[in-house]
Amino acid sequence: MLFSGRRRKLGANPQTEAYTQSLQFYGQPPLENISLSEFETFAVERLKLLKTVENLGVSYLKTSEQYLRKLENELKNLNFPYRSDIDDRKSQNGPSETEKRRKDHISHFILRLAYCQTEDLRRWFIQQEVDLFRYRFNELDPKQKLEFLHRNNLQYDAISSKEKKELLDKLVNSSYAVSGITVENNDFYKVPFQDALDLVRTRKVYLKAGYAYIPHQDIVTIVLNDFRTRLSKALALTARSLPAVHSDKRLQPLLNHLSHAYVGQDYSIQKNVGKISLEQIDSLSGKSFPLCMRQLHQSLRENHHLRHGGRMQYGLFLKGIGLSLEQALQFWRSEFVKGKVDADKFDKAYAYGVRHMFGKEGKRADYTPYSCMKVILSNPPSQGDYHGCPFRHSEPELLKQKLQFYKVSPAGISQILELVKGMHYQLACQKYFELTHNVEDVSFSLSHPNQYFIESQKVLGGVKDIKRETDVQESSVARGSTTAREAEVANTSQHLTEVTDDLECYFRDA
Ligand code: SF4
Repeated sequence: MLFSGRRRKLGANPQTEAYTQSLQFYGQPPLENISLSEFETFAVERLKLLKTVENLGVSYLKTSEQYLRKLENELKNLNFPYRSDIDDRKSQNGPSETEKRRKDHISHFILRLAYCQTEDLRRWFIQQEVDLFRYRFNELDPKQKLEFLHRNNLQYDAISSKEKKELLDKLVNSSYAVSGITVENNDFYKVPFQDALDLVRTRKVYLKAGYAYIPHQDIVTIVLNDFRTRLSKALALTARSLPAVHSDKRLQPLLNHLSHAYVGQDYSIQKNVGKISLEQIDSLSGKSFPLCMRQLHQSLRENHHLRHGGRMQYGLFLKGIGLSLEQALQFWRSEFVKGKVDADKFDKAYAYGVRHMFGKEGKRADYTPYSCMKVILSNPPSQGDYHGCPFRHSEPELLKQKLQFYKVSPAGISQILELVKGMHYQLACQKYFELTHNVEDVSFSLSHPNQYFIESQKVLGGVKDIKRETDVQESSVARGSTTAREAEVANTSQHLTEVTDDLECYFRDA
């Protein structure tokens, strides 16, 4: 894979030359050749990192000890640079610091391609990248911060001791958390006020003659503004070059799927087939189904029909929790014949779709249940549809009514609606899980409706085989072995490129 550009070509030792610093503004795209498999691995791992950044950012204060520790662990586990030390020795089994920086650089640019496509994707990507950047900038020591500023043309001058003395009272009074003693020991930067609007707005700095006087520890705000602006412009520019990228048949499906990619287990494993009886479904839907599936089940029972999008989303979910093909046929047929579809019409118009979903017709692919990202980002429901994610696709008032109907407490509903307002749909769903299972803090990061089901069964002490199977998979990932990660990436890769559109055309209403 060649990242082309008009920028300067890298020298004889491109890695050493390009990656002398642990942190960068990603001003220059990578120019080297990489394999498609490396392209995919880097992209998936950065996506995982950004998802962690999002989850931690909502769960903890961004300056808290837990936030910092958990983010550092994730950076370490995924082999991204996390410290500013220039230590290029390989750790015992892992990559060298230069290799990590290279991965950081290339993966950022790959996700730019995937996440420049819509306003929503751009906003999400910028927010997570800015949070990641904040963490890493704060990890630099004061000297490295200054070097970073100068290297990136942020030539802010520190004021002289004389000026500092003259302005001492004003600086102490206007600068948040600065005492007279630290004013003397710390640098203050004189920055055009328009570069420091956030600090001006929150009245954190002294203003004089169009300049803001910024204490050393607050300079990160300026750098983040600059990074955000650069990234926003770069994404707009990247979006313009998309037609050229999309003409590459190898990359187009990959990039499309990356933007709603799910980076975990795909829940296609069929070891639990037949472990759930049809009689259990009503009770399981109330206890262990996420809201999206509970809503689909309820609508199916009430209307004896689901439209195409609903049958796809719910049918694959049921397959994932263990319904066999025979059970699925029986389940859908028995419900549809209670409505306007007779058994003959069901067999002609709908049974093929169910068999196809189980890989028994057409291209015989083993289709996987939809991840949250796929449900949230693709095929929004319209009038008469019940598929989609209620946290994303329901009006807040309607969502509130649903939650009240399901007996969620008023305080819980407010918390959920607050998360929805911030567009943290999966975290809202996680909160719903906590409230309906009476647990304080879930130990997983939700990204799949079938994961919700399995976690619920664990809490309720349900299907033991599902529990065991998940534990095995989780522990292998937790061990962080290269083999486990490779297997997972390969798995995801297969998932990314799977062409579900083919299935969808068989599933349309007759
Ligand atoms: S967040 Fe995921 S599991 Fe929860 S309701 Fe939405 S799509 Fe379903």
